[in-house]
Amino acid sequence: MAEERQTKVCKVCYEQIDARAKKCPFCRQYQEPFVFFTLHPALVMWLFVLPLVALYAFMGLWLYRSFSTGEDFARHEGELRVISSNMAWAEDESAPAIWVVGELENSGNVPWTDIQIEVQFTDRAGRLVDKDTKPDRGTVPPHRRAPFMVATIPGLPRDNYAACKVYVRWAKDARKSWFFGLGD
Ligand SMILES: [Zn+2]
Repeated sequence: MAEERQTKVCKVCYEQIDARAKKCPFCRQYQEPFVFFTLHPALVMWLFVLPLVALYAFMGLWLYRSFSTGEDFARHEGELRVISSNMAWAEDESAPAIWVVGELENSGNVPWTDIQIEVQFTDRAGRLVDKDTKPDRGTVPPHRRAPFMVATIPGLPRDNYAACKVYVRWAKDARKSWFFGLGD
């Protein structure tokens, strides 16, 4: 018994095609919009893979941020400079202290914190008489200036201290994670 073949007209090229056809054999166009998704394994795969790739990238970034050791200051040394400094004596004569205040300039892209400031004191003849290194806990953001302040207890009588020079010896990447920061 010959079965009457049901036909329909292709929506795109208007050829007579099988009524059950999801894709036109003449022009290769899909006949229903949603058929496209079910018939294209590559597209279906991408719909699943892309969110996974995005999730993977996000987790990678999270892990990097959580466990990052930060940038090594030695590679950025010239980017954090002392642009001005002043020394002042504390008023209390029984417990002498020298305050050194000034401004830092960060010309790089790394935010720095725990900045180790070395102060070299010279006498009136310009001779080095004392030095000290102290941390400043502030943060200097990239391409910004920020004040610093450190205090030192002088090892010599006051007359020996005429001037000071200030240097940044080390700093910590402020983005460095708490995980690696524990050891500091
Ligand atoms: Zn067609």
